[in-house]
Amino acid sequence: MNIEHVKCLIIGSGPAGYTAAIYSGRANIAPVLYEGLEPGGQLTTTTEVENFPGYPEGVTGPQLMEDLRKQAERFGAEIRRGLITHADLSKAPYTFRVDNEKDITADTVIISTGATAKYLGLEDEKKYAGLGVSACATCDGFFYRKKVVAVVGGGDTACEEAIYLAGLASKVYLLVRKPYLRASKIMQERTLNHPNITVLFEHNAVGLFGTDGVEGVHLVKRLGEADEERYDLPIDGFFLAIGHKPNSDLFKEWIKTDEVGYIMTEGKSPRTQVPGVFAAGDVADPHYRQAVTAAGSGCQAAIEAERFLSEKGLL
Ligand code: NDP
Repeated sequence: MNIEHVKCLIIGSGPAGYTAAIYSGRANIAPVLYEGLEPGGQLTTTTEVENFPGYPEGVTGPQLMEDLRKQAERFGAEIRRGLITHADLSKAPYTFRVDNEKDITADTVIISTGATAKYLGLEDEKKYAGLGVSACATCDGFFYRKKVVAVVGGGDTACEEAIYLAGLASKVYLLVRKPYLRASKIMQERTLNHPNITVLFEHNAVGLFGTDGVEGVHLVKRLGEADEERYDLPIDGFFLAIGHKPNSDLFKEWIKTDEVGYIMTEGKSPRTQVPGVFAAGDVADPHYRQAVTAAGSGCQAAIEAERFLSEKGLL
């Protein structure tokens, strides 16, 4: 069987992957990018993006991704539908399987598979997606100025998102399932002392309601061992902050990840410990998780890939 070989394989089609494709395309290394399950990545699930530089009037998430894809194609990147279903990074060139069908080998690899926000698993989260349900306060908080929102979670992210939202919204409820916060002490203090935030301990959200968008949340409050109280809380926005899952499972056998699964790179570079394999965007970023930071790291990964090929005489 004739196996296709490429100089640079980019896995994932969020801002990191597309930016890596723009840079590596312009560097003439003919990158091939596989889009994965969700072409365009997490941003395609948001509506308006107002904080990506260069769009003074804002842009929708899907439009931004379409623009990045076209820009990459303009420089010769080949963007393909398909999911990498298997990876072997034991020796170069590295081998991959696409859609469990076809094999491809690559001299350099840019892993930009992103992270997936965790949801509670309620039907209503899907029903109101983009209509009041969000997993990113920095992305969508602006739309809730002077409104009432709830944030679910008790970790650092939930506290950070609650504090961020409290600067915009008139009221933030933090829904915590345990009788305590898991966040760091300083974040707990800031959250508990914030005048706009009310922490509701031992509360679980079990559903949402509203006619054209979220108008409230159905809550269950635990009262001791066997008792509970059910009530509805009017809100305009429902934010999930119960963690993210980096999409790194395919590569864990060869590449170091932290305890959550984020790929660990060398210092501030996108280099993994496997030569010629780089990680960019949310799959390697537990801290910032922004489109623009992902794009920046995609650029770094492409520059590294080009240098690697050049040093190895593979150009
Ligand atoms: P965490 O895993 O730390 O916290 C998740 C929170 O969500 C927990 O309170 C958990 O509750 C709650 N949760 C999980 N599943 C459910 C559910 N089904 N229903 C209700 N609540 C649920 O994730 P984070 O994203 O907050 O943080 C990830 C890592 O990143 C941490 O190490 C954190 O410290 C770090 N981080 C650091 C920041 C900083 O330093 N500024 C900012 C943001 C993150 P329970 O406690 O009951 O399990």
